[in-house]
Amino acid sequence: TAKQIAIYGKGGIGKSTTTSNISAALVEAGYKVMQFGCDPKADSTNTLRGGEYIPSVLDLLRENARVDAHDAVFQGFKGVYCVEAGGPQPGVGCAGRGIITAVELLKQQNIFEELDLDYVIYDVLGDVVCGGFAVPVREGIAEHVFTISSADFMAIYAANNLFRGIKTYSSKGGALLGGVIANSINSDFHRHIVDDFVERTQTQVVEYIPRSLTVTQAELQGKTTIEAAPNSEQAAIYRRLANKIADHTESKVPSPLDAKELREWSSSWADQLIEIERKTQYVAVDA
Ligand code: ADP
Ligand code: SF4
Ligand code: MG
Repeated sequence: TAKQIAIYGKGGIGKSTTTSNISAALVEAGYKVMQFGCDPKADSTNTLRGGEYIPSVLDLLRENARVDAHDAVFQGFKGVYCVEAGGPQPGVGCAGRGIITAVELLKQQNIFEELDLDYVIYDVLGDVVCGGFAVPVREGIAEHVFTISSADFMAIYAANNLFRGIKTYSSKGGALLGGVIANSINSDFHRHIVDDFVERTQTQVVEYIPRSLTVTQAELQGKTTIEAAPNSEQAAIYRRLANKIADHTESKVPSPLDAKELREWSSSWADQLIEIERKTQYVAVDA
């Protein structure tokens, strides 16, 4: 049976970009992969399909009394399977419900077995402040959860909330944490912040991904970096990440910080930032 992986993170942090590159790297390596977008924007799989949108499961269910699940499954780069759960019309219904509905439809019609998949990768919006987006964790749809975070406070805040969700559901058969994918890491300072956070919360960084123009250029062509720039350093980093996720077996319950601890933690970094800035200014004046 397929290994089920969920990738979480706050909006705009790079979930779809990173997930699509992981999927592309895995199909390139010969695996059968499905990327399952769980973001009401329904744009998770765009760069696997030349920038094209696909109809979401919820779109199909709104338009048809009975939906053949095959109609919700599309193929992209090197045969990767693409599905978008979609979302309710804005202001109506629960986006989290949409994820359950979409997964249920594919399960009922045995699509996962039929396609004989090696990996299903869920690209999930949200920091699990609401029960809706906790669905893949809570229902144990995924076995291993990874979160994408930069060194920005809001991204770390979202990751910490996800850890709280995982911890809460862990005793009830929920998914466990594989680790943090550190995105947009372009300085030692970014790296230190994320390293310190994972140490405090007893998890690990799976890979450090720099912010790179190669990614921007690929996206503008409607492609993953793996497809658009296969020989780039960035593509090599995505392949290394994909291999680590493919080989990953031991997920754990993280130790999230409570609100006060997170506040203290972030202000300790703020003090260090001021100190570093003071030093660099001193050097600049000195030179
Ligand atoms: P999410 O799915 O989390 O909302 P996206 O994957 O759509 O976020 O990324 C948001 C934007 O950031 C996109 O324009 C994407 O190209 C860009 N981006 C993400 N990661 C990188 C990176 N490592 N280098 C350059 N641009 C990136
Ligand atoms: Fe969205 Fe969560 Fe509310 Fe559902 S419960 S509508 S997923 S915010
Ligand atoms: Mg996205």
